[in-house]
Amino acid sequence: MAVSLGASAAGGAHEHGVARLSLVQDDTTITLGFDSPLDSLVGFEHAPRTEAQKKALTQARVTLENAAQVLTLPAAAACTLTSVDVELPFGEPGDKHAAHADDHSGHSDAEAEYVFDCAQPTALTQVTVGLFKAFPRLQRLDAEAATVAGQGKSVLRPAQATWSLPAAR
Ligand SMILES: [Zn+2]
Repeated sequence: MAVSLGASAAGGAHEHGVARLSLVQDDTTITLGFDSPLDSLVGFEHAPRTEAQKKALTQARVTLENAAQVLTLPAAAACTLTSVDVELPFGEPGDKHAAHADDHSGHSDAEAEYVFDCAQPTALTQVTVGLFKAFPRLQRLDAEAATVAGQGKSVLRPAQATWSLPAAR
């Protein structure tokens, strides 16, 4: 059974210190999406001007590409990571993702997507988020889940970094 999030998940305001997390279940396939103002991750949203800023961008990419540092799924769900896709603005010249930064708003966003195959998806009761530790500027995550058990919205904060997913009925 495939489920999907409502249109609200696609939009949302760009607010520094806040990011969005989504989880969609399609049978044993779990897709987690992360969408954040770049400022929440590295503290700036312009093309990097200094070595420190270039380093910060590289470090953000390394962190996001390491799914284990971003989120932890219950061991009982027996999930295997099948793909990671990280899109940060200000990549190499000619990088197709660099277009992200050029929306004339003065703001830019980072995105990441993690796809897992979970042998026991009913055991997927929660997600523990490591994003607050990895990115101290991040103060709030608006999380939205759509699983076969139902849909649910949660607000995660540094002191509440465990996301309880909709329970099976
Ligand atoms: Zn911004």
